[in-house]
Amino acid sequence: MGKYDFLIVGAGLFGAVFAQEAGKAGKSCLVVDRRSHIAGNIYTKEMEGIQVHAYGAHIFHTSNKEVWDYVNQFAEFNRYTNAPVANYKGEIYNMPFNMNTFHKLWGVVTPREAREKIEEQKRSCAVEHPKNLEEQAISLVGPDVYHKLVKGYTEKQWGKRATELPSFIIKRLPVRFTYDNNYFDDSFQGIPIGGYTKMVERMLEGVEVRLNENFLEKRSQYEGLADTIVYTGMVDEYFGYCFGELEYRSLRFETEVLDEVNYQGNAVVNYTEYEVPYTRVIEHKHFEYGTQPKTVVTREYPQVWNKGDEPYYPMNDGKNTELYKKYQGLAEKEGNVVFGGRLGQYRYFDMDDTIEAALACARENI
Ligand SMILES: Cc1cc2nc3c(=O)[nH]c(=O)nc-3n(C[C@H](O)[C@H](O)[C@H](O)COP(=O)(O)OP(=O)(O)OC[C@H]3O[C@@H](n4cnc5c(N)ncnc54)[C@H](O)[C@@H]3O)c2cc1C
Repeated sequence: MGKYDFLIVGAGLFGAVFAQEAGKAGKSCLVVDRRSHIAGNIYTKEMEGIQVHAYGAHIFHTSNKEVWDYVNQFAEFNRYTNAPVANYKGEIYNMPFNMNTFHKLWGVVTPREAREKIEEQKRSCAVEHPKNLEEQAISLVGPDVYHKLVKGYTEKQWGKRATELPSFIIKRLPVRFTYDNNYFDDSFQGIPIGGYTKMVERMLEGVEVRLNENFLEKRSQYEGLADTIVYTGMVDEYFGYCFGELEYRSLRFETEVLDEVNYQGNAVVNYTEYEVPYTRVIEHKHFEYGTQPKTVVTREYPQVWNKGDEPYYPMNDGKNTELYKKYQGLAEKEGNVVFGGRLGQYRYFDMDDTIEAALACARENI
């Protein structure tokens, strides 16, 4: 018998939800994280009175009422609605592609005119069997939307030209024939007032947390401490990369404080031309309708991932999916260890998916 019922590796959202549920069921937990802070990738830190999303902009959105009620126990959410704009060579377009975008592109006013224009555009470049991402995207939305709003952004995201990327990366390019700039279709959306870190802090209330602790470096010390381990780190690292490394796309963030009240007038501005090296500029105060005298902006640069870099997006292509299956096989045989979260399951999870998965994991294992 260990000293704790659960050792939770990772104080991110998955680990925090699991710890909260275990605590409610009267179980004891120890949470360790190798970072110097809790909340994993949803960590927000205060700068100039503004909550800065340190690992990329995070907007909470879900259609799952259970998950929405769950997070609302730990934070009050504001009415933030994600409505990014795209900047293409100084021209501003609304996203996702909607009537505002089409009006700006072609001067069309009614949905019928917009549909006709898109069909005309698609016909002008019809490709029966798209061989690459460029042909695929053009066959979905036509050349104007593609060249101004899709091409450069996608090429920067993947670090490759669109003609070298496989067509399956873009299955759909949703177009909306209303003047609605809300990026998400979900029923519930918002930003926790005061930041995500405060929300996770409340989830972890009463739970013992040790920071700056790498479980894998102190494995023998930690393994005996608990009956069950919930591991939310990288699954390949846990097994010493014995089958090789799973690949990711990474990001680099450049954050600066500006001595002005309002830099770009919106929380999220996408830069869709290839020549601008970053994909997005985030102005954090707009997530909370801030009126502080200064502002904080972050430029996002997509990066090739090398071992040791922050892993952001799993590459769910054929090669990596096969490799993950091998690790999954080992994970299933690992007696008292449960693998969870975006790194433990090598899957892109939105925050609501993470909570849903952690609640299911808690139901199964507590
Ligand atoms: C750039 C970006 C933007 C995103 N934006 C959104 C958004 O707008 N909306 C949305 O819903 N979702 C968004 N997400 C998804 C969201 O970040 C995830 O759903 C969430 O962070 C997953 O939580 P997690 O606990 O699984 O992982 P993590 O937050 O990564 O937590 C895992 C923790 O485990 C720790 N750890 C790993 N290995 C060890 C070890 N050996 N020892 C000790 N500790 C260890 C890590 O330090 C980390 O803190 C975004 C993701 C990215 C990459």
